[in-house]
Formats: sequence, structure tokens, C-alpha cells
Amino acid sequence: MEYVFAPPPQASVPVVGGGLFPVRRIFCVGRNYAEHALEMGGNPEREPPFFFTKPADAVVTGGADMPYPTKSESLHHEMELVVAIGTGGADIPVASALDHVFGYAAGLDMTRRDLQNEAKAARRPWDMSKGFDHSAPIGDIVPAAALPDPTHGKIELKVNGAVRQTSDLSQMIWSVAETISYLSGLVVLAPGDLIFSGTPAGVGAVVRGDLLEGFVEGVGTVRVRIA
Ligand code: MN
Repeated sequence: MEYVFAPPPQASVPVVGGGLFPVRRIFCVGRNYAEHALEMGGNPEREPPFFFTKPADAVVTGGADMPYPTKSESLHHEMELVVAIGTGGADIPVASALDHVFGYAAGLDMTRRDLQNEAKAARRPWDMSKGFDHSAPIGDIVPAAALPDPTHGKIELKVNGAVRQTSDLSQMIWSVAETISYLSGLVVLAPGDLIFSGTPAGVGAVVRGDLLEGFVEGVGTVRVRIA
């Protein structure tokens, strides 16, 4: 049988050194840095990680502009380490979890904070506050060997040259390996999956024209302008 119309283009992220990483799904960890959990009114205790998702084609790559989303007056930045899964699996042990990583990237979990706050208050889903079009700007993926130990390293975001978020990967409540292991107990992970690993404190609003420049030590940069 033929498709009734042409299938959509495969969402992808460029890989440093060549090639494209085909994106299957985007998972995001909520409140994975204690200080951010506190600033969002949450509990920084080590409760199990929770996840939400974005569509694969929410990625914005190559330094392209991100259009300011509709239906929001409060677009927030969340600077994050992104984990790119190269080998899938279910119930992956923590000890071997990093063997499933293809590479890493610097990414932004852009959020319609006003819609998220409304959803929280009404106990409704977060999809339209997190998983909207162009909500996942991401830098090029570096092979995993570039970050052999993703448990430490500087993570920082500048907006128009001023530092807005700065922390260290060591401040994550759940490590990359623990996150992969836990998530693989909820869904069968597959090659092409991306995991946004949570943001440190300092989230805030951006406006049209702002230039966001994020950096993760050992991984690289993400750069996007709000249009
Ligand atoms: Mn986030």
C-alpha cells in the first residue's frame, strides 16, 4: 500500500563530524536540579523522576530562529544537557545505561510558562505548554566519547550576553545514567530518542529579538534568536 500523501520529513539533528541524527521521540525530565525545583515551588527531595514529551519535529537546529509562540505572554528558557540515545532497550541497568548513549547536545526546553501555570492549577496536561512547535532548540550532537563522564561539567545560558543560568551537571538530582535506566522502565527506549535532562535554576522570560546562547562543558553550544 502506498501512503495517501507524502510522509513528513524525518526530524533530525546534525552530528559534529558529519551526518544527521534522526529524532524519534523527545522526552524531558522535570525538576532535576534542586535549586530549580525550589524556584518552581517544588520539593528538591529525591522523589522519582517524572517525564513529559515534545514532538520530534519541535527541534530547531543549525542556529535557526525560533518564532515566539502563539497564545503566550511568558516564554521561558530552560537550558539543558540533551542525551541522544543510540541503542534502545527496556529495563536498562544503571551500570550499563551510558552504553546506550550515542551522544550529547546543548538544548533549550522552551516553555509557555503562563500556560504551564494554568495547567498546573487546573491539574491539566502540560502538552501545550511544553510540546509546541519549535519548542526544542538544540545544538549539534557530539559523540558520547566527548563527554565520557556526564556527572560533572559547567552548564550555562546567556541571554543577550548576560548570564541567566549557570550551574554544574553534578547538581542533577538524577544522573544521566539513572534517568536512562528509570525511563527505560516506563517505555522501551529506541535509537533516535532524545532526553532533555532538566534545567538548573535561573529560568526566566525572553522576548522577540533576544539572543540565547547556551553552553555545556565538553558538549558545545546552542544558539537561537527569538523571532
Ligand atoms: Mn525542562
